[in-house]
Amino acid sequence: MNTPTHPKHITLIGAGLAGALLATLLARRGWQVDVYEKRGDPRLQGYQGGRSINLALAERGRHALRLAGADEAVMAQAVMMRGRMVHFLDGRTDLQRYGRDDSEVIWSVHRGELNLILLQIAEDAGARLHFHRGLSAVDFDRRIARFVDDRDGGSHEIVFDSLVGADGAGSALRASMKQAADLGERTEFLGHSYKELEIPPSPDGGFSIEPNALHIWPRGRYMCIALPNDERTFTVTLFLPNEGDPSFQTIRNGADARALFERDFADALPLIPNLEHDFEHNPAGLLATLYLDRWHLDDRAVLLGDAAHAMVPFHGQGMNCAFEDCVALAERLLADDDRAAAFAAFQAQRLPSARAIQAMALENYLEMRDRVDNDDYLLQRALEHELAQRYPERFMPRYAMVTFHRMPYEVAYERGQRQRELLVELTAGHERLDTLDWDRVDALVRERLSPLPTDE
Ligand code: FAD
Repeated sequence: MNTPTHPKHITLIGAGLAGALLATLLARRGWQVDVYEKRGDPRLQGYQGGRSINLALAERGRHALRLAGADEAVMAQAVMMRGRMVHFLDGRTDLQRYGRDDSEVIWSVHRGELNLILLQIAEDAGARLHFHRGLSAVDFDRRIARFVDDRDGGSHEIVFDSLVGADGAGSALRASMKQAADLGERTEFLGHSYKELEIPPSPDGGFSIEPNALHIWPRGRYMCIALPNDERTFTVTLFLPNEGDPSFQTIRNGADARALFERDFADALPLIPNLEHDFEHNPAGLLATLYLDRWHLDDRAVLLGDAAHAMVPFHGQGMNCAFEDCVALAERLLADDDRAAAFAAFQAQRLPSARAIQAMALENYLEMRDRVDNDDYLLQRALEHELAQRYPERFMPRYAMVTFHRMPYEVAYERGQRQRELLVELTAGHERLDTLDWDRVDALVRERLSPLPTDE
């Protein structure tokens, strides 16, 4: 049995995105880190799943990658996305920029490649990675963790000081902690699921549609999105309700999917030659928000990333938030030898942040699928741009606060609500910005919005 001997030894469960990043941050600061991962080493056998699945990387995530020395390697394969390319039902398209210029963009990164880079950087920093070790049970009294090897069913035990659960939304560590204490866990299902499809490169080997954008086909209760990959493909995600029409109940096979695309996503259809195959062979993913009131068990275990606060993907912040968790937890552990105190401080700092981004991710679903092509919304958005230019120290679009800055999510959420109320109030009864009373606008902005905090 493995027994920890080092005063700064820690055991991580899961070598996914957060686990590999946290391992690097701690190992680089002289910690002895053991990471247990249920799957095999993707550096040897290729990333499981085979399909290209990508994620939007934003400033919070990039900041964490910089601290881990991983940003350069990750950015070498990232594709810039300047804004949302909205595809209307009649075939028109409109690029809605995310930020002011190319300094305010997001990046599409390949999940598999990102994981490979982070694992290599973690190992290079001195972390010990143990693959084919799926956590199966924990004896918190004796501080023993049990793992199963998925190849032969063999059982392995280790003794630990503290466990960190970076084992994702279905966390086995969370399940074990729940047996020892009430974590106040609840899961709210969105009632919508998703399916991934692929746009291959064009016949000349290039991108089939504008590469530097996140494409959206908003259709009210449902939508499609597509993110570019550096191999010139796009990963398309179709989001549909679980019930109603259309839904995953009525769109059951490839032929149904083709009919739906012919009607609602006609310009996307010729781009997805394997639509029927992809629809029938790729699994449908459920979407849910996981809330916990408690993330740690004194000094023995703590959860982070999706294991602590899985969210719906509509703000593209789950990974970014998980990376921010890693930075915060590493800072607490480095600052305080008392682990229980470090875990408690981490939870106190990050739980309100997680709740805020979870709420914003849910709100963004409505915005993406329903509002990006609606007139009131477009006028409010035009005013938002105008106010951000006139009062850069006081007014910043919520999307920018979340995506291009690192102020706590809860600050972005609260300011965003105040700004939204102001935009609705100021545009009420107007169809154009030039009919607004700008003296009143000026007075209300100064009265209601204090100067913005800066990233430290
Ligand atoms: P994971 O990445 O899930 O890693 C968990 C790891 O733990 C895995 O390696 C797993 O094999 C391992 N594991 C599981 N069980 C055990 C066990 N019992 N023992 C040992 N190891 C175990 N986020 C963004 O920031 N931007 C996006 O654009 C974005 N898009 C998304 C799109 C979709 C459709 C979805 C579903 C999510 C999206 N996310 C996005 C969210 C993002 O994927 C997650 O927030 C992120 O992967 C969380 O990282 P994690 O390390 O906590 O968990």
